[in-house]
Amino acid sequence: GLVLDDISVSFPGLAAPVLEIARLAITPGEAVAVTGPSGSGKSTLINVVTGLERPNRGRVMWAGEDLARRSEAARDAWRAANVGLVMQDFHLFPGLSAVENVLLPARFRRLSVDASMKARALDLLAHVGIARPAQSVETLSRGEMQRVAVARALLKRPGIIVADEPTASLDAEAGAVVGELLTELSRKEGATLVAVTHDDRLVARLDRQVRLKAGRIVADGPVMREGATGEGGSPSMAFASSD
Ligand code: ATP
Ligand code: MG
Repeated sequence: GLVLDDISVSFPGLAAPVLEIARLAITPGEAVAVTGPSGSGKSTLINVVTGLERPNRGRVMWAGEDLARRSEAARDAWRAANVGLVMQDFHLFPGLSAVENVLLPARFRRLSVDASMKARALDLLAHVGIARPAQSVETLSRGEMQRVAVARALLKRPGIIVADEPTASLDAEAGAVVGELLTELSRKEGATLVAVTHDDRLVARLDRQVRLKAGRIVADGPVMREGATGEGGSPSMAFASSD
């Protein structure tokens, strides 16, 4: 699992830290939504979790090891091996096919792309509904592009999938499909999922919602499933504290 302990992140010239977290523990396999207003520290939080950003203070404990103490190169290697990333604007490589994009992280890591890895890439693409894996990615729709990115994030069987606004660049229909595939595949593969999102329908698919405001956790609780409150409709949550 992951434990953030006594984290503080500051940037030069800013009066207050942009992130201050006393403790945040995420259990393996948990699906967590990170929500909050613009500038509240959501991206900074996931950058700390994935080792892109080193906090000024505190520990980022992964399976008993403190990621924050490791060098940038070590954190990059750790991230490449353990994290599947899905970004708002897809981050696909133009001029390459869908299947080549899915295999790209393995190529960057200079892993030999053998027949079984290719087969897995094709399986994942079929699962996310990409019928022509040899199609060049710039000819895909935006929803299809994000589905390729979801397949790519899962290729190396990462322990954790981290998504920053995975549905925000998509229309409602494409966003619903991507949200479902992302949560369903993460669960099926046993991966932890941490998704920064403003999308209520994506939040409703996850187990837990952590809400940030001005760099602090102001609420943390289970996402109430439709029907559990007797109302249905938009998701609500059990607030651990007031917002
Ligand atoms: P959004 O919803 O707009 O993506 P966010 O919740 O992801 O917002 P962050 O990107 O984590 O917010 O930023 C939190 C705060 O930290 C903001 O005030 C931002 O301007 C500041 N910040 C982030 N990165 C840097 C940096 N490298 N240098 C200086 N300030 C930064
Ligand atoms: Mg952000």
